[in-house]
Amino acid sequence: MEGNILVKISQLEVFVIGDGPEIDPDKGGIEPLACLRIHTDEGLTGLSEVFRVPPGVVQATVGDSQTHFGKLLIGQEITHPERLWQNMWDALMHTNRRGWEIIILGALDVAIWDIYGQMLRQPVWQLLGGIQRGPFQSTVGSTVEVTPYCTLVSDVWGGEAMFSQQVARAESLASMGYKAFKVEPMMSSPRDVVELARRCRKAIGDDLALMVDVGYLFNDVPTAVRVCRELEELNLTFFETPFPVDNPEPYAKLAAKTCIPLAMGEHGVTRWEFLDMMDRGSVSVVQPYMTTCGGLTEAKRIVELALPRGAQVCPGNWSTQILGAASVHLAAYSPITPFIEFAPAEVFESPLRRELQSAGFPVINGKINIPTKPGIGYQIPDDVLTAFRMG
Ligand SMILES: [Mg+2]
Repeated sequence: MEGNILVKISQLEVFVIGDGPEIDPDKGGIEPLACLRIHTDEGLTGLSEVFRVPPGVVQATVGDSQTHFGKLLIGQEITHPERLWQNMWDALMHTNRRGWEIIILGALDVAIWDIYGQMLRQPVWQLLGGIQRGPFQSTVGSTVEVTPYCTLVSDVWGGEAMFSQQVARAESLASMGYKAFKVEPMMSSPRDVVELARRCRKAIGDDLALMVDVGYLFNDVPTAVRVCRELEELNLTFFETPFPVDNPEPYAKLAAKTCIPLAMGEHGVTRWEFLDMMDRGSVSVVQPYMTTCGGLTEAKRIVELALPRGAQVCPGNWSTQILGAASVHLAAYSPITPFIEFAPAEVFESPLRRELQSAGFPVINGKINIPTKPGIGYQIPDDVLTAFRMG
């Protein structure tokens, strides 16, 4: 393809993959997951996934030329992704512009960036603005690598079984070279939250990063303050979602009383919600998913809003490495992204997660090299798609 050949969207394809009914999502198994592929008349395609949106909703909204997004996108010329993002956003003016439709919009945006990068023969991070880290962004580390943090879960919550399983997983991943770990004392007592964090810090030592995610555990600020006081000596990178996220004000009250950075944003959509988290909630680590938040286009805007507020953007991803590949591109560009979330297939019972991880950017000694292929640079191998396709 040479010169100014127009590339037009010719087809939107939705397909569903998953581990199957016998594999438990609570043990890391992948529930039916809608993926989408944008086809163009020049043969280039763009790939994305749509986490936590029922596949039937995606199929009904994206697909042939009569669907909502089909009408908007099929026949459109691929130019800068922001233009197509704005077209899709404007078409939702008379809805609430939150929820599932924005997650789908975000997934389409990632697939459009994938094609745009291939058209321009550049990796997406380069088109987002290039590498904007330098010697002054000391928390981000090297300019050539991205650091994943491993999210750890257990089959049960609370007590010895939770402690031993999550700590064993951290030890095993640390021995493989991973550098950062997030424990998840969900549905646990305040005492168990502190105990799990203490045991994990002891197991991994002082040099590796440790985060704690309590998954909306508290309703009252004083309990969360007491837990944070005990956690402060453990040098946590952040403390995630202590409260429900409907209202960020309790986060601001807790932030005023602890030195631990507070994190939220895993299900946040649009820059407007992230602004609220930072300005009303004093949250200093925001965690957009690269699709859910409204796509890479919106994620870049979130970085631009977080930067002058002194916050960090650590992309969330409790889904697959199809989405994880987009996180790597954002992290490569962003000067305020020391970590991206990573659900390590090595310790979960999910054959599909394993296959999708091994098809992705390799983690070598706990780091991912900044990718060089044009576009996002992720493909699902044909045999994996055949084996795990559910619709
Ligand atoms: Mg979480």
